[in-house]
This record gives sequence, structure tokens and C-alpha cells, in this order.
Amino acid sequence: AKLLAELGVDAGRYHGGTLSVTSPVTGKEIGKLREHTVSETKAAIEEAHKAFLEWRSVPAPKRGELVRLLGEELRAAKTALGRLVSIEVGKITSEGLGEVQEMIDICDFSVGLSRQLYGLTIATERSEHRMMESWHPLGVVGIISAFNFPVAVWSWNAALAMVCGNSTVWKPSEKTPLTALAVQALFEKALKRFIAEGGTAPANLSTLIIGGREVGEVLVDHPKIPLVSATGSTAMGRAVGPRLSQRFARAILELGGNNAAIVCPSADLDLTLRGVAFSAMGTAGQRCTTLRRLFVHESVYDQLVPRLQKAYGSVTIGNPLETGTLVGPLIDGRAFEKMQAALGEAASAGGKVTGGQRVDNGSADAFYVRPALVEMPDQTGPVEHETFAPILYVMKYSDFDAVLALHNAVPQGLSSSIFTNDMREAETFVSARGSDCGIANVNLGPSGAEIGGAFGGEKETGGGRESGSDAWKAYMRRATNTINYGSTLPLAQGVKFD
Ligand code: NAP
Repeated sequence: AKLLAELGVDAGRYHGGTLSVTSPVTGKEIGKLREHTVSETKAAIEEAHKAFLEWRSVPAPKRGELVRLLGEELRAAKTALGRLVSIEVGKITSEGLGEVQEMIDICDFSVGLSRQLYGLTIATERSEHRMMESWHPLGVVGIISAFNFPVAVWSWNAALAMVCGNSTVWKPSEKTPLTALAVQALFEKALKRFIAEGGTAPANLSTLIIGGREVGEVLVDHPKIPLVSATGSTAMGRAVGPRLSQRFARAILELGGNNAAIVCPSADLDLTLRGVAFSAMGTAGQRCTTLRRLFVHESVYDQLVPRLQKAYGSVTIGNPLETGTLVGPLIDGRAFEKMQAALGEAASAGGKVTGGQRVDNGSADAFYVRPALVEMPDQTGPVEHETFAPILYVMKYSDFDAVLALHNAVPQGLSSSIFTNDMREAETFVSARGSDCGIANVNLGPSGAEIGGAFGGEKETGGGRESGSDAWKAYMRRATNTINYGSTLPLAQGVKFD
């Protein structure tokens, strides 16, 4: 409550409802929120649409000014908001702060972008004509986000959407509404400052909707939302994607991953060890880019795997707010059950499991667990699917082409990496015949992307791209304009109509 007050959240917004929010750090309730009803959500979308009609006429560099102020508010609130992320999600302190830094980074990126929303001029076959492509705002952008990046995902979408001239309606995970309330309060503060400094902006430019699937579905089905950016499990994408395409709305789907790394004979094993440990155990295995499958060449297997097992046995698990902790809790008991079920399946399929057991922290309702390393005879059973927990399946390989094929032989395609000092292996991995994922790294793990590059994955990860590069184009519509500045009417393709 102290943190929420410090972040400017009105106490009335987190007391008195029926949505109970618990912290995975203690397993205890930390807030009770009133959820939005379906009809309130529909009304909010109508208001957001009116906001869009106003905002689209504000010049993009002026829109960027608002995002700059949002970045300033986030900078000022970084410590408090980062701590709240740690309390609500269970991330260790540096990761909670890192999430806020990502928000600041995307704001900075978007401010620059606000002066770079460029179209094209294209040569035309007709004299005294000019042909160009221009980009226009889309409308209300719906944002549905997952629990594990409770606020960064909003900013990746909202900062871009806003400089592109859209309004937004955001439904965060029901598990993490408090950080969302805090971010909304910071946005409202930035908006007030923007208006006080002479800017023009509508009140309902960014709306927060608290609630579960029912209100999420309102965003998905609403005709005044032309684009929904939905982050979560592949199961969620399977439910949401067809509903959006049914009404010809656009989707940015950012779904699950079953990310792998290949360790080659020439790999620097010290660097590999660190890269693997961070990517596989960080955020207690609850990152979409968490490393879940590790292919180790037979010539280095016996050097690397015992060292990894040692790291798994000694990593500090505990309260994420305490200095020195590297692995915090799982989000809830359901996540723990899923982890145990996957480990049971792996053992039945011939896997040799190290770790995976619950670590007592004195609370029956908090789920701390030792990350599990499972040596598997092959890629089978639970290895083929994402289990959102710290389980690393390790497999031995001998042939590079065969391991590339295995690497790609899973339904999802988010992130991937290779550890090698052989230029041919590295280049092949990032080439068209290498990794089939949206992200392919060399000599670092699959986790920990930065803002400048486009982020997203292929296959059952959904194909969406957000964040840097030209991801902004997804938040705009493209129009081809042909302008006749002459006094005759030449037709294209030499067609005569006289
Ligand atoms: P989730 O259970 O799929 O939920 C994600 C969001 O979707 C929540 O806000 C959820 O609402 C909402 N939702 C679920 N079904 C819906 C429906 N039918 N219509 C509208 N909204 C719906 O995922 P999670 O457990 O929070 O997050 C973990 C998953 O997200 C993992 O699979 C992870 O890999 C993935 N993820 C992917 C990325 C990426 O960028 N590719 C990033 C982060 C996470 P409620 O929770 O309120 O029910």
C-alpha cells in the first residue's frame, strides 16, 4: 500500500473489490480490486475511440512529447515501480528494475520515432503525377498482457501506438493488476503535465481495464478495435487469433516459446555456463524467452554438464527482494503443479532429473522451487512443449545438421542461441537454413532482448513483432496516394478511355 501510494495510485482503486491479488513472495493477499464489467469495458472502448479521433490530428512529434513525459515519470518512479514488480510477480530486484528500464527505453525509442514516421515516394509511369505511400493511425489498439512482464509489455505497445496516433485500452493479467494501476497513475500524471505545458490530448487516450477473460474477450470482439496485441500462452492465442481474423481485425500475437541453445565443440564453456544459467534460471524460468532445451556436443558434454549441475545445486533461491537472491518464487501453486507434472513425465520418458523440489521459505502459500536440470535421452514428451517453470532439458548431440533439425522440430519459434567460436556454425545458425525462430543469438542465451530490435517469434509463437526496428508499422495503416497535378488524365497501363 505504501508503494502504491508513493506511485500515485488512489487507495480506493485497490481496496474493496472482489479480485484478490496475492504476492508470490509470501503467498499472502496484497490487494482487493473492483473488476470492470463487460458493459463498462464496452463504454470505455467507445470513449477510447473518441479519444483516437482527437489524438490522430495531433502532429506526431507533439505526440512524442507526451511519451517523453511518460518516460520521465517512469525514470523518477523506477525504484518504487521496480520493487512493486518484484512484489507482484516475484522477480528479483534487478529484474524488477530491468523491467522498468525497458519501459524507459521504449519511451526513448518512441520519442525519436515520432520524428521518423516516414512514407515513400514512388516513381510513377504517368507524367505530372506523384505517387506516394503514407502512414496513418489505426484507431483504438487493444493490449492484453501476461503476468510475467506485467508492465513492460504495455509500454512496448502503448508507446509505439501513441506516437503513431492511436488510443489504447489495456487489459493486464488478473494476476498482476497492481503494477498496472501504478503505471496508469504515472501515465495520467504525464498526461496532466503534457496538458499543463500546452499540449492537446484527450482524457481517455490510455484506458486500463481490470478483469479476466470476459473483459479481454470484449476487446477481441469489439468492432471499434482494429488491432489487438495479445501476449500470453499459445492456448490464449489459439482462442483469440481466429476471433480477430473472423472480423478481419489485425493481431499482434506474442505467444509461448520453447527456446533452445546449441553448444558446439569450440564454445567458450565459461561464457556458455553463465549464458545458460541466466537464460534457464532467471525469473524462475518464467520468461517467454527462457532457455528450455540445451543441445550439447558429445565432445564437451562431460565438461559442461557437471558444472551446470553444480550451478543448479548452489544457486540462491529465496525472497526476491533480498540482495544475493538469484531465483525467486513461481507465480502460484498451479505453476508448481505443472512443473512437477512435467518432471514426472520427463522421468517416465527416461530423463535423469536433478533439482525441481520445493524449497521451504516458511510460507505454505508461496512456491519456491530449486530449478531442475533434466538429462534426456532424446527430444520427446515434455521437451516438445513449453512448461512455464525453471526446467532445462539437456541432450547430447554429435552431428551439426541433425541438431539444427532437432532445434527447429518443435511447434513454437520464439528465441534461440548457439555457443560456438566456429564462424561457419555461427553464420549457418543465423542464416535461412539455421534457426527458424524470431530471435537467433550467437554466444549469449536466448533471453534478455533489448529494445532496438523487433521482438517476436514464428510458428505457434504467433508471428507478431513489437518493440524496435520497424515494428511501428503494425500500429498504422498504409495508404497509396496518386496525385495528378496536371490537367490531363493519363491512365495507368496505357489504358485509353476517350
Ligand atoms: P495466459 O494465461 O495465456 O494469459 C495472458 C493474457 O491473456 C491474460 O491477460 C489473460 O487474462 C488473457 N486471456 C486469456 N485467455 C483469453 C481470451 N480467451 N480472451 C482474451 N484474453 C484472454 O498467459 P500467462 O500465464 O499470463 O503468461 C505466460 C505465457 O505468456 C507463457 O506462455 C509465455 O511464454 C507467454 N509470453 C509470451 C511473450 C512473448 O512476447 N512472446 C511475452 C510474455 C509472456 P487473465 O489472466 O486475466 O485471465
